[in-house]
Amino acid sequence: MSAVEPILPPATIGVLGGGQLGRYAVIAAGVMGYRTVVLEPDPVAPAGRVADVHLVAAYDDDEALRRMGDECSVVTTEFENPPAAALDVLDRRTLVAPSPMAVSIAQDRLLEKAFLTDAGMPVGPYAVVDDDAADPDIVYPAILKTARLGYDGKGQRLVSDASEMRAAWRLLGSVPCVLEQALDLRTEVSVVVARSASGAFASYPVAENTHVDGILDLTVVPASVPRRLADRAVGLGLAIADALDYVGVLAVEFFVVGSELLVNELAPRPHNSGHWTLDVAQTSQFEQQIRAVCGLPLGDTSLTRPGAAMVNLLGDLWDDGEPHWDAALQPGHTALHLYGKTTPRAGRKMGHLTSWGSRERAELTAVAARVALSRRG
Ligand code: ATP
Ligand code: MG
Repeated sequence: MSAVEPILPPATIGVLGGGQLGRYAVIAAGVMGYRTVVLEPDPVAPAGRVADVHLVAAYDDDEALRRMGDECSVVTTEFENPPAAALDVLDRRTLVAPSPMAVSIAQDRLLEKAFLTDAGMPVGPYAVVDDDAADPDIVYPAILKTARLGYDGKGQRLVSDASEMRAAWRLLGSVPCVLEQALDLRTEVSVVVARSASGAFASYPVAENTHVDGILDLTVVPASVPRRLADRAVGLGLAIADALDYVGVLAVEFFVVGSELLVNELAPRPHNSGHWTLDVAQTSQFEQQIRAVCGLPLGDTSLTRPGAAMVNLLGDLWDDGEPHWDAALQPGHTALHLYGKTTPRAGRKMGHLTSWGSRERAELTAVAARVALSRRG
């Protein structure tokens, strides 16, 4: 369904998925006076605990989906992999934003690459791998990635020749994969944009990202890339959002190779590299998501300080017991976010820290604050 009139508080907004992205969306909606419904099977998931209603059911549970569709004026998603059938059930009953079509493209690397290529967007060299005799024309080393269900570097293998690639394909479950040339990255940047049904568009300043073991570790904003590249990233974000007729918040991850940008992937939702907006932007990416899907005017995306830096807090930090939260908060210009997850596991995103000031100062402060968490005494 599509919206004609803006959806105003106290209407009900649905969020499919119960992670931290949904938690912030629910909080932002609640602040604005909306009622919220979360559909998520985990009874202690971060978003379920702050929503007005938490439907504890599988994502494809027909009864829960029907209830959600009937109660909500709009439903949005907070993770990349909602079952297509679930979005279709919702789409028949209410407004779903972003559209099931946009989500289905972003959740499948092969569809995503085909979409980006057709739309004339710059992407790195890649090949499709779908059988165990594959011998694609690609320069090794290369990275084999499952087309679906990967996140935080999961479902990926670095391979150095075709026979290693075929062995990796079997290890990954013999499922459709994309094989990407491993690029020599100068750096990585991302842009979080918002588009509403009227075509209104807004972009946050471009952020610079450092990954460790395939997981985002550090985001610094504004990115230290030439103005031309930052402007180009925003322009590509706008072109992609328009090409998808996108409604909501969309993140575009880029590789910087030489002096050019290549699109890495799309996230059809707010993004980890936009978490700094919670503390250092006039409008957070989550408030922007609510504004966009409800057809409200988009909010001001400016930084409130010259710069910001965000570091992720992974479950590994709990190896020696509860981290020293007070130590991280010692610099007053640092904010602590914990998502309320009950079980810390290695590599699991448990929270983040954001610091602000000049870009350089913010980065030093955030990194030092995280070190202080595990310092004894
Ligand atoms: P996330 O969900 O955290 O965004 P993901 O599992 O979807 O991660 P990608 O974004 O594809 O995975 O890859 C994670 C990281 O691995 C990239 O940000 C980059 O640092 C590195 N990487 C991925 N593909 C390539 C490539 N072709 N060349 C060089 N580095 C790469
Ligand atoms: Mg990524």
